[in-house]
Amino acid sequence: MRIILLGPPGAGKGTQAKVLAQELGVAHISTGDILRQNVKEATQLGKEAKDFMDRGLLVPDGLMSKMLQDRFAKSDVKQGFILDGYPRNIAQAKTLEEIFRLKGLDVDLVVYLDSSDSVIIQRLSGRLVCSKCSANYHITNMPPLRQGFCDKCGGSLYQRTDDKVETIKKRLEVYKNEVSDLIKYYSEENKLHRLSADGQAEEVLKEIVVLTKQ
Ligand code: AMP
Repeated sequence: MRIILLGPPGAGKGTQAKVLAQELGVAHISTGDILRQNVKEATQLGKEAKDFMDRGLLVPDGLMSKMLQDRFAKSDVKQGFILDGYPRNIAQAKTLEEIFRLKGLDVDLVVYLDSSDSVIIQRLSGRLVCSKCSANYHITNMPPLRQGFCDKCGGSLYQRTDDKVETIKKRLEVYKNEVSDLIKYYSEENKLHRLSADGQAEEVLKEIVVLTKQ
């Protein structure tokens, strides 16, 4: 199964992708996670991407396309994948199409998780992430059992530098500038399914699972 998850930051793409990837036995490809790992390891890519990320801007397409090609060169994508955070604009959608063409792949499903700005800001400004396993928590909606530490692996929890309210608003603005073109692009291919992601994650997951079985 090959799935693209679209949607604003905070719609729950990462949360859904993690669970779905496990259930379907496919790779979870989160471009944000790959970038953050590169920043952590201070690689050349990480150094070049960091400033854009901290400002809530998109990392330039050239850097992203190289990164994506490297990721799709790995053998696990043959089992299928869930793409989370890419494409973010039409140029990226076309790069993806070209990678798929060269590899003889096709997308089965594009799910657009939609969410309102107020829900997004509430979710992201309270989000905590595990430094070891990337599990997500929320200060009030889903606090960890032990404050500051991950329930699953004991890793320490941190707030992402781009989850400050001002940066969240910038990320939303960047997202809105590009999304309508992307929606049009995938609607024309008849692969796009739109879901409201304002509700509970478990309910949204059920709706996505239904789509994967159609
Ligand atoms: P995310 O974890 O998906 O919210 O991404 C965090 C940040 O990483 C974004 O605000 C961008 O700065 C960068 N990023 C992630 N995916 C992309 C992408 N496909 N194109 C450009 N920048 C990206």
